[in-house]
Amino acid sequence: MKTTSAIMLAAVLTASCAADRDADRARSTASADNLRMYTEAISHDSCQGRKPFSEGAARAVSYIARQMEEIGLRPYQDGSYFQQVGVKSTRFRCTGPMRISTPKGRMSLKWQEEYVAFSARDESRIDIKNAELVFAGYGIVAPEYGKNDFRGIDNPQDKVALVIVNDPGLGSDDTEYFNGDNMTYYGRWTYKLEEAARQGLKGVLIIHEDRGAGYGWSVVRASGSAKMYVDGDTAYHCPLNGWISNGAAARLLADNGYDLAELVEESKSPDFKPVPLNSTVSVSMELTFDRQKSPNVIGYIPGSGNTDESVVYIAHWDHLGYGTPIDGDSIINGATDNAVGVAWMLEIARCFSALQEKPRRNIVFISPTCEESGFLGTEYYVEHPLFPIEKTVAVINLDVFPLWGENNDVTITGYGHSDLDRTVAELAEKYGRYVMPDPDAYNGMFYRSDHFPFVKKGIPAMFAKGWNDNRIHGKEWSREQIARYWAEVYHKPTDQTRPEDDYSGLLQEVHLFFDLGYELAQGTGYPRWNPGSEFAGVLER
Ligand SMILES: [Zn+2]
Repeated sequence: MKTTSAIMLAAVLTASCAADRDADRARSTASADNLRMYTEAISHDSCQGRKPFSEGAARAVSYIARQMEEIGLRPYQDGSYFQQVGVKSTRFRCTGPMRISTPKGRMSLKWQEEYVAFSARDESRIDIKNAELVFAGYGIVAPEYGKNDFRGIDNPQDKVALVIVNDPGLGSDDTEYFNGDNMTYYGRWTYKLEEAARQGLKGVLIIHEDRGAGYGWSVVRASGSAKMYVDGDTAYHCPLNGWISNGAAARLLADNGYDLAELVEESKSPDFKPVPLNSTVSVSMELTFDRQKSPNVIGYIPGSGNTDESVVYIAHWDHLGYGTPIDGDSIINGATDNAVGVAWMLEIARCFSALQEKPRRNIVFISPTCEESGFLGTEYYVEHPLFPIEKTVAVINLDVFPLWGENNDVTITGYGHSDLDRTVAELAEKYGRYVMPDPDAYNGMFYRSDHFPFVKKGIPAMFAKGWNDNRIHGKEWSREQIARYWAEVYHKPTDQTRPEDDYSGLLQEVHLFFDLGYELAQGTGYPRWNPGSEFAGVLER
């Protein structure tokens, strides 16, 4: 018996050593020169900033598809790497003020100054007439905290809820309750709209506040008159979505005998119950539509294990097109957002393609469209996946990566959600790197890129990169660079490639995340959500 098991063990070890050697060799084919070539091509001026539906975008996606073909990836479908996504661009115009009746009289709110209104519905005109208003705290239903801000609201189809932005943890040190000052998904404005729709309400108006939203009213105003949606989705959407200024909300509540600041405090408690107001709201909006298609670019490597399980890499190709000129240059090239991400993904694909023995599970490489307008391409993919979404093992995303050279850190955005953190920490050690939580997690970045539609389906995600501890310049320098990046480069024409760009940090991310994908694709289990995560109960498997 002993001899047999020793022989078997030896055989297993030999096989796993061979697999390790194969993976080492495949990983070593990655190069900084390739990363530079891909990045410069995708962020080239001829791609005009890759705004969806533009000629420049068409150039970029055919380049990416051509690279996938050269690498040897299988095309998404029928010989094509394109998964076409129907996109509906809607413009909203409110034809008059928002009228609110209160016990003390009438309020008339100015469009764009004091409110914005929009809707995902396919209707050319939406009229809300004297709908009852109810104050619904943070607009959150979170069983893990015993919180239901809509408890006991009857006839929701006739009511419009007023809700506060962010979540009850905002500004708190108690990390046990709604993750303290780090935003949970319950804090995002998109969640508020989704939950209001699940409640079957007529509408929801989010009360704006600078710190809670993470941006000023000017951002709400600028984005409030046009939005993009996945075309043809049939889910219920409230007829009325919108924002109301803090001042207007405070006046309306005061007329009802309530103090907004006091209500905010009361709303934090799990015992909070919605407050019916002696007020109604009326507003009319006109909607105009523009329907177009834009592709996700998708290729894959079939697993050797004859399974429909998959590991997904993702990096969006789209960007913003033209913007306000800086030094006469108006093309927002999006080199670091997100040509580098696509380059990273293609180079990882090349490594997988170089393996002699392909991993057990399928590896899918997706470069989605319309990330910048609310990750519509990915929203579409998770409803129309190549392999079953519930058998998607994990998603690995890269979005925004400045080219400053090698880093010691692996900063995980969304740290603490799943046991992928531990897996990455173990893999990072081999490269002399360490894992750290994103120090800027209050801004909710985990909910703001392409892995997130997967997360909402219950699929664990890794969204991480080194940039807080540069190997040569250290931490302080890195923090200064990050601040400068957000202020001077992000979403501006200055986001372009330069001869002095250093791709060695991006190459580190190719190595590390090739290893992660390889380990997940060879495995048989699934990564686990941590019990405290708001996504822990979404998918049982
Ligand atoms: Zn991006």
